Amino acid sequence: MKTIRLGATALEISEIGFGGIPIIPLPQEEAVSVVKHCFDLGVTFFDTANMYPTSEEKLGIALRSIRKKVVIATKTAQRDAKGAAEHIDLSLRQLQTDWIDVYQLHNVSNGDALNQVLAPQGAYETVLKARDAGKIRFIGVSSHSIATAMEAVKTGLFQTLQFPFNFIESDPANQLFPLAIQNKMGVIGMKPLGGGVLERADLCFKFLQGHPYVVPIPGIRAKSEAEEIVALYRNPEPLSETDLKEIENIRSTLGEKFCHRCEYCMPCEQGVQISSVLMFQAAAKRLSREGVKGWIGKAMESAEQCIECGECEQKCPYNLPISDLLKENLALYNQYVRS
Ligand code: SF4
Ligand code: SF4
Repeated sequence: MKTIRLGATALEISEIGFGGIPIIPLPQEEAVSVVKHCFDLGVTFFDTANMYPTSEEKLGIALRSIRKKVVIATKTAQRDAKGAAEHIDLSLRQLQTDWIDVYQLHNVSNGDALNQVLAPQGAYETVLKARDAGKIRFIGVSSHSIATAMEAVKTGLFQTLQFPFNFIESDPANQLFPLAIQNKMGVIGMKPLGGGVLERADLCFKFLQGHPYVVPIPGIRAKSEAEEIVALYRNPEPLSETDLKEIENIRSTLGEKFCHRCEYCMPCEQGVQISSVLMFQAAAKRLSREGVKGWIGKAMESAEQCIECGECEQKCPYNLPISDLLKENLALYNQYVRS
């Protein structure tokens, strides 16, 4: 497996990383075995988050004996200094390590979130102190909003940027990623398979190989998946004309329904958690029934509060028919929990 330098950090990592969500529902022994198998295949970059139940613990067990040979990234969604301090110590314990290589502020996807983390007594203050204390090596940010991520990059306060990137969500390659690279940041591509929506792994990774400065972190839940992805990297192929046509087909089919989780539609006055409801089908493909209920069960229930006022649809830059999609996903969810 080729390695890549993560921006201006001193971190040399495998050209593809490991995303820690799909190991959530796996029994511990199986999850540990999958993670170890990825390392054996050459993967040295492992990304998780405090918010992914059991993921840090499983990675901690799998990686403790090879800690110095791997790079671990995790995240906190806490916005204040106290909450972030608690999360850093919890992550260190769960990951069974004395240091975290990349600590990211999670899902900073609107101006309020960015202002909160950077304000006095905000999470950034804590993360900086933790870096000075040696608990963290580099500081990153993850986001789903191009505008907010651009602002975060411009602050010059972060060494890495994590953002969704795949052939459906390719806009970051226009301005955001060039700006991050200009700022010497490492670029981490989350959701290389569209969060489980895109089924043609070959097309996804051929597309990503055309953007070698992005380190994709596919969620991997089985050894066979890891082997398939690694094989695609061992024998890289450019996108053919046929591939490009197929990508266009998929783009036009999904275009009307694909939620980019940018959160421009929020907040909803009725409390509907729109983007979480719209990710139901992807979640159901990747997680167990219990995992889906724990992860987005409350959000799914919030869809019942939709009064079809249409305000969110006016704010959605992708013109998604949100009310219809909420109803569709809620009906599918109710069927799913009853089946
Ligand atoms: S519904 Fe539209 S605005 Fe809301 S998160 Fe999805 S893509 Fe963004
Ligand atoms: S249409 Fe439904 S989800 Fe959208 S803003 Fe109105 S109540 Fe909220």
